[in-house]
Amino acid sequence: MIITIDGPSGTGKSTVAREVAARLQFTFFDTGAMYRSFAWKIVHDGIDPANQEKVIDALSSFHFEISFDQERAYFVNDREVTEEIRTREISMIASQIATYPEVRNHMVKLQRKFGRSCHAVFEGRDMGTIVFPDADLKIFLTAKPTVRAERRYKELINKYPDNEPLAIHQIQEELNLRDKNDTTRSISPLKAAPDAIVIDTSDSTIDEVVEKIIRLKPKTQSRFSTMKFIYWLVYSLARGFFKLFYRLKIYGEKHIQKGAGLLIANHTSFYDPPILSISCNEEVHFLARESLFKVPLLGKLIRALNTHPVTRESADINALRQMIRLLSEDKKLIIFPEGARSKTGKLHHFKPGFSFIAKKTKATIYPAFIEGAYEAWPSNKKFPSLFGKVTCVFGSPILWEEFEHLPKDEIEKHVIERCMHAIEDLKLWLEKGAQGMPP
Ligand code: C5P
Repeated sequence: MIITIDGPSGTGKSTVAREVAARLQFTFFDTGAMYRSFAWKIVHDGIDPANQEKVIDALSSFHFEISFDQERAYFVNDREVTEEIRTREISMIASQIATYPEVRNHMVKLQRKFGRSCHAVFEGRDMGTIVFPDADLKIFLTAKPTVRAERRYKELINKYPDNEPLAIHQIQEELNLRDKNDTTRSISPLKAAPDAIVIDTSDSTIDEVVEKIIRLKPKTQSRFSTMKFIYWLVYSLARGFFKLFYRLKIYGEKHIQKGAGLLIANHTSFYDPPILSISCNEEVHFLARESLFKVPLLGKLIRALNTHPVTRESADINALRQMIRLLSEDKKLIIFPEGARSKTGKLHHFKPGFSFIAKKTKATIYPAFIEGAYEAWPSNKKFPSLFGKVTCVFGSPILWEEFEHLPKDEIEKHVIERCMHAIEDLKLWLEKGAQGMPP
């Protein structure tokens, strides 16, 4: 789930967003800190912020990281900048460089990348309008100009008690200038999204605003409630069966976010497709040979379970087309990239088909590792053992942006390597005792 909180500075945005995130146990992203960090780099590299060309060039060497340990910390090219980005000079430069379209595009990509990896509260200027137009809740905070200037004045005095305090009219002027930059720039100007809820914070305490936002948060809809009845029925029966006979354990399903996704896993057994499907809290899709659909009853059943037929003769092209269509409809698709069941239970090198799909659709990839399915039903046995222990672990999403900067002809190779490592890491995580969230 994504909550966006936009508005000009001095409206209490950061404090409110941080508190909302803490109360909901969401991750908080202060996107102003990203623009500030880049502004810091411009100053550090001795670049004139008015020289748009040089500023844009500097994006290619801007490596930004956030540390989520107890205290939030920001790093630019491995150098911590958490404190230094809060000065008045950096505020003004951040607002200047934030008017350059290339800078904004770069930041938007970074922000979307973060947004796809967790439940989050994003605070900024264009979160609800541009970066996350599908956000689950959009808030726009405002406050009277005098209240905003006073708040900023108190903030500066608290932060820099040794500095000569600025006159309030000076602060007001700086806020006006930043507002002007933010609201009049041609690309993503500061404004409330049409579906945002506007809250005036002038006469409210932080607690009151936070309370209000938490009350507005949509109830998390159970993903089960979005399933077709027949899918839900078979899903529930299968889940019960695997829990009872095979003590099915699932880890990391929280990694799976809304939207198109390729679920990829190791493949050792006939049991893998059902195990992977029932480990997911939403409907998933996969492809199967057309001949299976001709078997009475089974055909009807697997069709109801989102299995799509592919003909033998034109298997490749037809299957590719089907997969691309499903992902373009924002569905989740299961693929076993080894191509066939492993005869030994070990992970084989991935076939290039899935990396082609990933490249074509830019869908998020969710690596998964299934343990115990081989022992429960090895590929060389006609029937499964009646009891066993199976586990399914989902790893953190692999986003397309990771590969975007690579030369076109190298992308697929990197996708394959990255995904194989991700699955091996999940196996290791299980072997080491499954502590915390899977990697
Ligand atoms: O929110 P904060 O004051 O830290 O942001 C610093 C500057 O970065 C703002 O004045 C604004 O110009 C820019 N910014 C932006 N879009 C965002 C966040 C910040 O343009 N999403």
